[in-house]
Order: sequence, then structure tokens, then C-alpha cells
Amino acid sequence: MPSSEARVPSPDARMWSVDEHLADVLAAVRPLAPVELPLLDAQGCLLAEDIVATGDLPPFDNSSMDGYAVRTADTDGATERYPSVLAVVGDIAAGPGELPRISSGQAARIMTGAPLPPGAEGVAPVEWTDGGSGLAAAADRMAARASAEVQVFRPVEAGAHIRRRGSDVAAGDTVLAAGSVLGPTRIGLLAAIGRATVRVCPQPRVAVLSTGSELVPPGEPVGPGQISESNSYALTAAAREAGAVAHRIGAVPDDPDRLRAVLEEQLGRVDLIVTSGGVSVGAYDVVKQVLEQYGEVDFRRLRMQPGKPQGFGRIGPGAGIPLLALPGNPVSAYISFELFVRPAIRAMAGAGQVHRPMVRAVCTASLRSPAGRRQFLRGSYRPPAPGRGEPGTVAPVGGPGSHLVGPLAQANCLIVVGEETTATDPGALLHVVLLEEPSR
Ligand code: AMP
Ligand code: MG
Repeated sequence: MPSSEARVPSPDARMWSVDEHLADVLAAVRPLAPVELPLLDAQGCLLAEDIVATGDLPPFDNSSMDGYAVRTADTDGATERYPSVLAVVGDIAAGPGELPRISSGQAARIMTGAPLPPGAEGVAPVEWTDGGSGLAAAADRMAARASAEVQVFRPVEAGAHIRRRGSDVAAGDTVLAAGSVLGPTRIGLLAAIGRATVRVCPQPRVAVLSTGSELVPPGEPVGPGQISESNSYALTAAAREAGAVAHRIGAVPDDPDRLRAVLEEQLGRVDLIVTSGGVSVGAYDVVKQVLEQYGEVDFRRLRMQPGKPQGFGRIGPGAGIPLLALPGNPVSAYISFELFVRPAIRAMAGAGQVHRPMVRAVCTASLRSPAGRRQFLRGSYRPPAPGRGEPGTVAPVGGPGSHLVGPLAQANCLIVVGEETTATDPGALLHVVLLEEPSR
């Protein structure tokens, strides 16, 4: 157990900048080893290979309409009044089957997606015809479809309503590049080109736990001095949004043995552990007490607000599992997640772009900020009107207090006030980190 003096930082203890801490975290994480997964298990993962189509899509010329496959010369000059009358020599459904050859004066009924028969040059949609109910005697049609006739009321041009082989995807095309995120349309494309499995960077498995003896699960009665636990929900949701398979462990009381037991249990199961609470200098800051004993977790102070105390290291066998210990105040925990955990998760998931987009915006209010700290205020960002080049605007939402979860839920960005800046006037141009795609 470390002495109490060891846990109290001396006034001249080194303080880390936000960028130094982030660089330290990112230097310690690597993309997870690629795996071959069935398509639906790969949803949300990033491709670890370029995908090259081995065949054409469509694989054969086929009809894009229900109608009649015809030779163009047979419909030249056709009108409602003077239709072309063609002998129907076959009925072609989507799927395998023998195809009739279409000769002069003939047509074949054809369904959407069915292969174009040899000899046919275009498809007359059924709406351009009498649907085959024209001149042929009903008895003939009953006896043999091939003897039925169809009236075509409009000329059919070469290629009309035909989807040509390879017109969507050609064999040899790179249809998806390594690094693409596998969402529904890409999973559909992989299936369409005949891929059943795909090589991806797996989604990092993340365990999220909270610490604090005051915390009760939401929905349970809140006694004196207790509060509903919220960090594990916000951080698990944030980890999932970042691309992780995250599971919420919930709150562990401020009891070193309980915390140790919970951590040990997770070690073989996850790729990253995130804790919140218990990292400052309070008497019951058990995360710090317990993890300092593992030896590989460094507790440090950052030149930022909120989020000054942070822990980072690697635990478990071979010190292989990265662990980020975030401060407990809900706003501090969330902002710390955004700044440090999200990039780590995205790097492990193989993403090229690990950071949120950052833009400059005109701040509508005056701001105050502590000297020597990079401050992250919650803001409401409005992008510029479409086509206008000038920056958008941003207004602070709520105050700087790191317990303010109400305003946090209304914010769509973080306003960044640099270390050297202690006050800004309305109209100042400031950096903002966009937390969601701004609505226009
Ligand atoms: P700590 O960092 O543990 O000293 O916690 C700082 C503040 O954040 C205290 O007011 C805690 O009650 C609060 N807090 C810590 N963890 C959570 C949590 N999981 N959910 C909600 N509030 C929390
Ligand atoms: Mg606590």
C-alpha cells in the first residue's frame, strides 16, 4: 500500500500536457490482429484487406422490368393504334432454365432479373403492351403459351430495360478499400459479389467500470448521500459509438479487494479497461491505490480542465491490457473519454482517422479560463449556412462545473480554450471539437 505522502503530488510534480498524455496513450496501443469473420459478425469492423470482385455484377444481361424481350426491328413504328403483334415463344422467370431463341416476329415474356434470351435486343415493359391478352384465342393461350401473341404499342430501342453484365461491378474492380467500415450496404455488396467471410480488424473488447461507494444502479432507491451511477452508462455507450464491443461492469465500491477481484476477472477477456472515479487525492481513491500496486499504471496530473487527474498504464499478464483510469466527475469522465479513450479504441480498431473533427467557430459569449490549463467547455455549435465559407458559431452550454450532466446532454461540441488564454471576448475565433455530425 503506498504511503499517503506518495499519493499527494508535490507542488512541483510534473504536469503533463493534453498532447503528451494523448501521445503516450496512442504509443501504447496497436491495431488488433486481423481475423476472418462471417459477414454479419464483421458489422462495424474495419476491413483489413482490399476487396476485389472476382466476377461481374450483374453476372449476365438481364431484364430490369417485367415485360417482353423483343428484337428492336420488330417494334419499329409501333403505336397504340398500329401495334406490333409478336408471337410469344417463351416465358422466362428469374432463375435457371432453358432460354428460347428470339427470331424475327417473336417475343418472350420476361420477369425482372431474368436472363435476356439470345436474339432479343430490348425489353418492352408490360405497360407498353397488352400483356399478351391481344389477338390470340384464349383457347390457344390455354393450350400452349408459345402460340400466344402480344401487342407492343411503342418502339423498343436497343438495350432498353436491360441491365448489362458487369455494368454495376466488373471483375477485377476493387470494390472496397482496406480501412472501410463495414456497414449494411458494404456487407450487402460483399454478399452480392459472393463473399461469405471477410478479413477485418476486430472491434476492441472494452470493459467499463465505475468506482464509488456512493453509487447505486439507476432504478434503485437512492438513500442519503447516494447518487445514481451514470458514468458506466455514458462511457459504455461512448465506447460502442467509437467502435468497441463494450460491456458495462457497473459500480464497484471503494474497497481495494473488491476492485482487485473485478479487475482480475476482466483481464483475460478484454482488450482495454476503462475505469472512472478514485484517481485523485481523496482518502478513498481506491483505483489509484490498487493500480499503483500493479506497478505499470502511472497516475499523473494534466494541464487541462476538467480532467486533471488521469491514470494510464497496462495491466495483466505481460502488462498486456491497456487501462485508462478516468476521473469520476461525469463531465470530466466523458471529456477524458473523448480526448484519450476514443482515439485509443479507434487505433485498436484499425481506423486511420482516430480523432473527432475539429473546426474553428466564432464564440458568441465571453469566456474565462484558468491560466496554464487547456479548458474544454461544453458548447452548442452551429455550422455556417451551406455554401458560405465563413466559420460557424458556438455558444457555451452551462458552466464549467464538471458535475453538470444536464447541459452536457445539450452540447454538441467541446470549446477548446488554450493554456495561455485566460479570457476571450464575444466574437473570438476558437477551436471546437465536434461530438456529432452537426445538423444543417
Ligand atoms: P471521484 O473521482 O471518485 O472522487 O468522484 C468525483 C465525483 O464524481 C464525486 O462527486 C462522485 O460522486 C462523482 N462520481 C464518481 N463516479 C461516478 C459515477 N460512476 N456516476 C456518477 N457520478 C460519479
Ligand atoms: Mg470516488
